[in-house]
Amino acid sequence: MRFTKLRLTGFKSFVDPTDLMIAEGLTGVVGPNGCGKSNLLEALRWVMGETRAKAMRGSGMEDVIFAGSGSRPARNFAEVSLHIDNSERLAPAGFNDSDTLEIVRRITRDVGSAYKTNGKDVRARDVQMLFADASTGAHSPSLVRQGQIAELINAKPKSRRRILEEAAGISGLYQRRHEAELKLRATETNLTRVDDVLEQLA
Ligand code: ATP
Repeated sequence: MRFTKLRLTGFKSFVDPTDLMIAEGLTGVVGPNGCGKSNLLEALRWVMGETRAKAMRGSGMEDVIFAGSGSRPARNFAEVSLHIDNSERLAPAGFNDSDTLEIVRRITRDVGSAYKTNGKDVRARDVQMLFADASTGAHSPSLVRQGQIAELINAKPKSRRRILEEAAGISGLYQRRHEAELKLRATETNLTRVDDVLEQLA
């Protein structure tokens, strides 16, 4: 899976629709301080399903919506779309039936986030799993935030293990195991209740 284009609309400082074409090989983004370089990387992490506002340098997720400037009013929504070349069919099962994939995330004030893949509504979890299985998720070690190297050096062994799991592409399995454990616990509770009812009937 190769990322080919990132489109930002109303996302942070990118009020007007802006396309970042991602060519093969190395892409460098240069510009003066505060011009929005980090916002681009955050947009990439956000469209992959980031849920932590702090990782977006905000206090709430709606902080990613263009907040207005001297000459432009604030926007009511932000949208990021990521185009992926899937001609080699490397996308995980369920997303692998077309040559290109377009993932869109939109957040609307007081409504929240919605996701689409190739125009179809999907859940946040589906998008997170797609990227987790492809080892490029929002928490992927290939996206390095400012200050993250220092965090890594000071990290506890458990957090370092998460990073290795992400790199090995097994964090999707980890999430599925967690969900299966929750279901198992709910089922155990239900069985206990059934036993109670049966006892009362006996
Ligand atoms: P540096 O080189 O200093 O790290 P940078 O090029 O990475 O800078 P960013 O940190 O990506 O720049 O962009 C910061 C700019 O984005 C600031 O001008 C800030 O005002 C603007 N910004 C952030 N969030 C919003 C928002 N919700 N609405 C409007 N502008 C925003």
